[in-house]
Amino acid sequence: MAQPTYALRALVLRRTKLGESDLILTLLAEDGSQQRAVAKGARKPKSSFAARTEPFCVVDCLLARGRSLDILKEARLVAAHDHLRTGLEASAASAPVAELLGRVSQRDLANPRLFQSACRALDAMEGADDNHALALSAAELLKILAFSGLRPSLEVCVGCGDAIELTEGASVPFSAIDGGVVCDACRSGLEAVPVDAATLCWAQYFLTSTFNAVAAGPADISASFSVLHLAQDLVRAHVGSPLKSLEFLFTSGLF
Ligand SMILES: [Zn+2]
Repeated sequence: MAQPTYALRALVLRRTKLGESDLILTLLAEDGSQQRAVAKGARKPKSSFAARTEPFCVVDCLLARGRSLDILKEARLVAAHDHLRTGLEASAASAPVAELLGRVSQRDLANPRLFQSACRALDAMEGADDNHALALSAAELLKILAFSGLRPSLEVCVGCGDAIELTEGASVPFSAIDGGVVCDACRSGLEAVPVDAATLCWAQYFLTSTFNAVAAGPADISASFSVLHLAQDLVRAHVGSPLKSLEFLFTSGLF
């Protein structure tokens, strides 16, 4: 009897080798849940799957239910995002997005904003210059954290709820483990490190702006890196080990 099939639009996050010629795809489905599927023969040179199952491809899939993993039967490319694989800087900037999506998404746990936001971010990064790609990456990492219930508190003390003014040139205590800024009165009881107020303003800007606005706005490399470090601290405190692709970005000497 033929296996039942179903259609799925998905973003390819990662692929791993299976046997001689197959791949296991880690996918972010349109509903934001994570799925894994086998693309049989995808590593053969003439496979029609090869170019359609690269990381960052958005694909309309036809999948057959398998015993453990579902099997990719057909794949139609919706968006290739070629530049994110071929451009060195663009690739380094976009890899943390795929890695974090792979870490926070879960099987059978719908979170549609993850998929919508990732597609918009990758579309914007595909057309952006390298400096804006970095800013868009920082923006998307913060948005992914926010959609996963980990939105940092940037203007209100996480200890007492008092408003904190972000004065230009000042630094503000920030506690990754408590999820945000800390006032002077609460500081002694919480594990906090000083962060430039400017970095917190950039983070706020990234969280509240659309990707089109970020792509058209200012792109300050050092500000983007500061926000990426902030995102890495939040990942380390709440998601688990730091993102490897971000560690690479920090030490690569790119940008
Ligand atoms: Zn406080």
